[in-house]
Amino acid sequence: MEISGKRAYALLEKIGFTRIGGTAEELAAAKILMDEVRAMGAPEPALEPCEIPGGEVHEALLRVTAPYEREYAVRGYLGAQSTPPEGLELDFAYGEDLAEAVLPELRGKAVLTNGRVRSAEMEKLMRAGAAAVITMNGSLYDAPDERDIADRSLRERVLEKGNLPAFQLHVCDGFELVRDGACRVHMTLRTEAGTRTSHNVSVRLAGTDMPEEIISFGAHYDSVMYSKGVYDNGSGSVIIMELLRYFVAHPPRRTMVFNWFGSEEMGLLGSRAWTEAHADELERHRVMLNVDVAGPVLGRESLLVTGEESLQSYLMGLARGFGYPISEVRRDVASSDSSSFADKGVPALSFARGGATGAAFIHDRRDTLAFLSADSLERTSKYVLMYARELDGSAVFPAARTIPDDMRKKLDEYFSR
Ligand SMILES: [Zn+2]
Repeated sequence: MEISGKRAYALLEKIGFTRIGGTAEELAAAKILMDEVRAMGAPEPALEPCEIPGGEVHEALLRVTAPYEREYAVRGYLGAQSTPPEGLELDFAYGEDLAEAVLPELRGKAVLTNGRVRSAEMEKLMRAGAAAVITMNGSLYDAPDERDIADRSLRERVLEKGNLPAFQLHVCDGFELVRDGACRVHMTLRTEAGTRTSHNVSVRLAGTDMPEEIISFGAHYDSVMYSKGVYDNGSGSVIIMELLRYFVAHPPRRTMVFNWFGSEEMGLLGSRAWTEAHADELERHRVMLNVDVAGPVLGRESLLVTGEESLQSYLMGLARGFGYPISEVRRDVASSDSSSFADKGVPALSFARGGATGAAFIHDRRDTLAFLSADSLERTSKYVLMYARELDGSAVFPAARTIPDDMRKKLDEYFSR
């Protein structure tokens, strides 16, 4: 049984619908993946639930009241503090990147900012005494009927720094607010806290030789709003399915675990839940291989390793042998599920085929099959398989199960600790 890009692409078409963490659509995609696992005769997959923050945004309104009157389309952040029922009438300020120099100007105001609200931004907003925050997504070149407003939530670590009413706006409207000198706004936000259930799908192949040692594979199968999530990350999901198929036909020496993680887009929630739920076996995990984005016709392969320098040079040596077209294996922390494993001490590899400039899109309606191909999926699958076979085939595992201090520091930064 060999790798097939066509078969991978066909599965990608089947799961190519919006699959937001904790929704019925995400669960429907999990079931499609499980059916695929069963149809190939692999061991029965486990569907592992995990609770994630959920809740509702019942109402989100933003109206400029001076020097002109206009209501703007907004979405409220899940988890954000509600305004009083009658709303808030506030001065408006554009805080750009929340540089220290602008903070004294933001007290009591509704603040528009360029970036996301992570822990650092929330800390600054609280210190500045801001009364509300507005963030933006999209492009100034989006056509009027394509101005999707992303749904956002304030994550647990952000809420540790504080909370305030938070809104998302399309960048075309943010542009207009600033250009036209908006100075007063009326905003109403009504949110409700709650939880949802997301799911991981997990399959285990027992090793023939060294079953006590575990190699795991991971790919997140959830997507964000408006996106079909075929590039990010249906592609990784179908690639590890091809690898599972290969190893069902060619039983591995070491135990292999294949995981399709839910709710990665909400902060690696599925993989973090998985590493918590399976904490008792993590000592036996020697390495984790993650695939997050692949398939663009125009693009470049990349491999990032969260581990020791010796592992990095070992992987680079293999790349030369495999003819894997990368100029370096980068040692870093990936913004993906590999970091959940590295954080628990498991060296982690994250494979990707990123798009060439302007040739691939994530997190919006442009993430579609249009820029992907079966050939491209097949090539990346084969490189990941070469690494998997090499690692599994080694007599002595080639890497120590350690995360060096410099990587630990980066993980602390990544997880905002
Ligand atoms: Zn992703």
